[in-house]
Amino acid sequence: VKKKGSKYEKQAQPVNQTAVLGAGIMGGGIAYQSASKGTPILMKDIKDDAIELGLKEARKLFAKQVERKKLTTEQMAEKLTNIRPTLSYGDFGNVDLVVEAVVENPKVKDAVLTEVEGLVSENTILTSNTSTISINRLAQNLKRPENFCGMHFFNPVHRMPLVEVIRGEKTSDAAVAATVAYARAMGKTPIVVNDCPGFLVNRVLFPYFGGFSFLVEQGADFQHVDKVMEKFGWPMGPAYLLDVVGMDTAVHANDVMAEGFPDRMARDGKTAIQVMYDNERLGQKNDKGFYAYE
Ligand code: NAD
Repeated sequence: VKKKGSKYEKQAQPVNQTAVLGAGIMGGGIAYQSASKGTPILMKDIKDDAIELGLKEARKLFAKQVERKKLTTEQMAEKLTNIRPTLSYGDFGNVDLVVEAVVENPKVKDAVLTEVEGLVSENTILTSNTSTISINRLAQNLKRPENFCGMHFFNPVHRMPLVEVIRGEKTSDAAVAATVAYARAMGKTPIVVNDCPGFLVNRVLFPYFGGFSFLVEQGADFQHVDKVMEKFGWPMGPAYLLDVVGMDTAVHANDVMAEGFPDRMARDGKTAIQVMYDNERLGQKNDKGFYAYE
């Protein structure tokens, strides 16, 4: 963990105006967090209803702050003006840093990143919130790979303090510095990691999910395991966490890990997580996972 005033932040160019591509679960959360801490952010999507949803979510989170008397309604209104929703790239010329948070599809990300690179200034830092795609792989099609790195937030963005800043082979110190500084300005704790499957957090988390899966396959009661892990001191057990993450996301990330680390992560046969996915028990996103939701 880089402390304030570390070599990265000393070199950071100012990040005064930012943009997020994608107004989904993550893009909306990133826009809220940036706006809440005072950095103006353009929120771009290709769909009007996605923008509406992103804004609705941000309004809801600000309203909770008002309810808790942490903000006045005037302050809420002012902070909301920090989010500028848009369907076009019109104002991207003045953006210091872009967070790409569109769907987890390398082709879509390539198209979006190369498109935006052609519109921003040559000093603009481009970052990707990808959970599983290699940063070096995404940098391949860029003209200025030195200005590109990963900026991996966790869901829900407003509650999860950690941000992984992923340095690709060609990422410059200046790009890392600006991204670290922006993460801090958002009230987050950045860690700088190298590019590898799972980055840091998922390299720890997915073997844990794998261990949990084995227990269930051997007949363990998932609720019991959750209770045990809670007593151990974790805020939630693995079954509940998988419901939050989503079985589709977990299966995909696990495949990426298995490909990257076949000796440790590849398995014969179906995991309990895969069986849940096959049975369309995705977790909270479709109201049924290990647990049932209303
Ligand atoms: P999502 O499906 O909720 O949102 C994606 C948004 O991108 C949609 O609103 C879609 O309309 C928009 N979009 C698609 N093409 C676009 C384009 N060309 N330009 C602008 N917007 C476009 O997805 P999400 O869960 O927010 O995930 C976004 C990214 O964040 C993915 O790379 C994902 O891996 C990563 N991520 C997700 C989580 C999570 O828990 N959901 C956590 C960490 C990282």
